[in-house]
Amino acid sequence: MKTIKGISASPGIAIGKALVYNESPTAIPRFHVSEDEVQNEVDRLKIAVTKAAEDIQLIKESLDKDASEQHAILEAHSLMLYDPCFNEQAHEKVKSELKNVEWILHETVNTLVEQLEATQDSYLRERSSDILDSSRRIIDHLLSRKRISLEQVDEEVILVAHNILTTEMLQLDRRKILGIAMDMGGKTSHTAILARSFGFPCTVGLKTVAEEIHRDDIIIVDGIDGAVIIDPDELTLEQYRKKRAHYEKKESLLFNITDLPAETTDGKLISLKANIEFPAETDQVVNMNAEGVGLFRSEFLFLEQWDAADDEVAQFEAYKEVLETMGSKPVTIRTLDVGGDKLIGEIENLDEANPLLGWRAIRYCLERKDIFKVQLRALLRASHYGNLKIMFPMISGIEEFEEALAMVEEVKGELEKEGVPFDKSLPVGLMIEIPSAAMTSDILAEKADFLSIGTNDLIQYSVAIDRGNEKVAPLYQPLHLGLIRMIHMVVKNGHSHGIPVSICGEMGGDPMYTAILLGLGLDEISMSAYSLPETKKIIRSVSIAESEELLGTILEMKSYKEINDFTRLWMEKRFNDK
Ligand code: PEP
Ligand code: MG
Repeated sequence: MKTIKGISASPGIAIGKALVYNESPTAIPRFHVSEDEVQNEVDRLKIAVTKAAEDIQLIKESLDKDASEQHAILEAHSLMLYDPCFNEQAHEKVKSELKNVEWILHETVNTLVEQLEATQDSYLRERSSDILDSSRRIIDHLLSRKRISLEQVDEEVILVAHNILTTEMLQLDRRKILGIAMDMGGKTSHTAILARSFGFPCTVGLKTVAEEIHRDDIIIVDGIDGAVIIDPDELTLEQYRKKRAHYEKKESLLFNITDLPAETTDGKLISLKANIEFPAETDQVVNMNAEGVGLFRSEFLFLEQWDAADDEVAQFEAYKEVLETMGSKPVTIRTLDVGGDKLIGEIENLDEANPLLGWRAIRYCLERKDIFKVQLRALLRASHYGNLKIMFPMISGIEEFEEALAMVEEVKGELEKEGVPFDKSLPVGLMIEIPSAAMTSDILAEKADFLSIGTNDLIQYSVAIDRGNEKVAPLYQPLHLGLIRMIHMVVKNGHSHGIPVSICGEMGGDPMYTAILLGLGLDEISMSAYSLPETKKIIRSVSIAESEELLGTILEMKSYKEINDFTRLWMEKRFNDK
């Protein structure tokens, strides 16, 4: 049994068999073998080398006879398979180091490649890629590694991976995934956000699980405390079954308050809304009795099929579906926020050094006005069927906001001429997720109908940490005084211009911060639908007066550690089941 600590990304406990989705080239398992098992390792290697040779033969046969260069490369690869480093040397090392053969091969090849790449001889240097290719082929056979399809999984499994891309998350066979454990990622990476939307327990930032866990290992993903337990003993399994039952009971009890208002003990009503990525999630939003959709991340409609982004009818239908399902409740749709970690071909091809600071969101839309216009047309047309609000992501200052507003006016003019109905008083707002926008929110508020604070990016850009990078994840601190002061300023600026201010970043769905958000004066909190009941429970148990007092105390503190400790104790005193 082994426990690996990581970052809790989506609550819940999953217990089950692992399916290792090994896309990482470095994810080669390493384990000890006994002396009795050495011969078995040697036999496995022989079989894998033979299979790799057969693969190459098949490729050769499928080639055109006159593709002489490719034949020569393959010939070199098949000869290389019989190189001593893949055979006798590997046997000897398994015997002396008592490690599994794929690890030995991986290490031997790495050393060899390093030596070749350090030589002055260009011929030898170029050979290193042939060696890597041949070793990869053998290792894939040793691990029986075929590219696993995430769309069709035969049985219920826990998905273990070095990294799962946002687009891969979209392909998951959701009925079969019990939970997710990942080496990479932070709490607000989009993979984590999607795991929460799908309701899978998920722990990220585990650094080595893709190497340490093997297919069919029994594991536990503890998404509550951010850990993974490999090969748990009976006692541990029992403890986690109890923890899972306790969590599920707590969730179902919370469900009882879904019909009650989110009202503080001194009578302030807070609007609790849900974040969605797909129209199908709206049912869950309705079940949880949210007061609307506070953030529809519209780009998820097209991440897999970018061609559809210029299909006005398909977009119109998707938005209309959400609006009609929500009836008279408001639905805030964010315009396309592509780029960063949500790559589409056109942006990926730029090979940007810093995609998170690059061509993304509103910057992309203001340059690709053709695509932006299609979305605005679809949105305005859909506004006729419900209570729509439009919101722009990643606005850095008034220039971008004014340009985007002018586009909305242009589209309104077109639709008017065409006689197409739309909501003429449709509210348009923006996300505050870049420090320059927060610092100029007084100017932005003059032109906006509402402000919505995207803390995931606001933290990323103010503390200067990549939100998906587990190495800097400890610096992701929503209670950093720099952030609290910024939110405070945005709320005051919004209110002095008479417009509502909401929060739609993940901070909003974490119960630890609810009272502080109330103290900061936010009017609306939008979060994953699953987090709504717990947040509502807290809102219904505190007053604005005591939340303001809490805020006043932490604003006097200096370090986020001090603020975190104080807030945690404050919460524990009131909610001791936390
Ligand atoms: C945010 O940045 O806080 C936000 C809500 O947007 P996203 O997570 O999609 O970047
Ligand atoms: Mg954002």
